[in-house]
Amino acid sequence: MKEQLKICANPYCLADFESTNIKQKYCSLYCKNQAAYWYRQKVYKWEVEVQKGRLNNIKILEDLKLRGYCSINSIELFKMGFDFKIALVPDKDEMQRQVYRYGNLYLIRLSRTDFEITDVPKFKIPIN
Ligand SMILES: [Zn+2]
Repeated sequence: MKEQLKICANPYCLADFESTNIKQKYCSLYCKNQAAYWYRQKVYKWEVEVQKGRLNNIKILEDLKLRGYCSINSIELFKMGFDFKIALVPDKDEMQRQVYRYGNLYLIRLSRTDFEITDVPKFKIPIN
């Protein structure tokens, strides 16, 4: 294979490099990852924000659960930095309450302002 002189497709690099691989667009794996990262930040800005916010919400709820909290109100959650705007459409449980899933936890709406925090039930192995 003949070596080809190319320009790295990462807009933050644009270095010259040689490659025998026709498909290679980036000078290194670092540049490939950096370009993908910035593309995602730019084109999927909303999803990136939502994902960050959801991870933050999960951290808040896991921390509360770890400290022994089983219920919380929306004002307290808001003060801790919980972002209600990024909730996915809630499920309904058997009591028709709204159930929001965050990681391995459920946030169940008890009233307009009060919530219960519970573990997502683990898959039960059927006993024969
Ligand atoms: Zn590069």
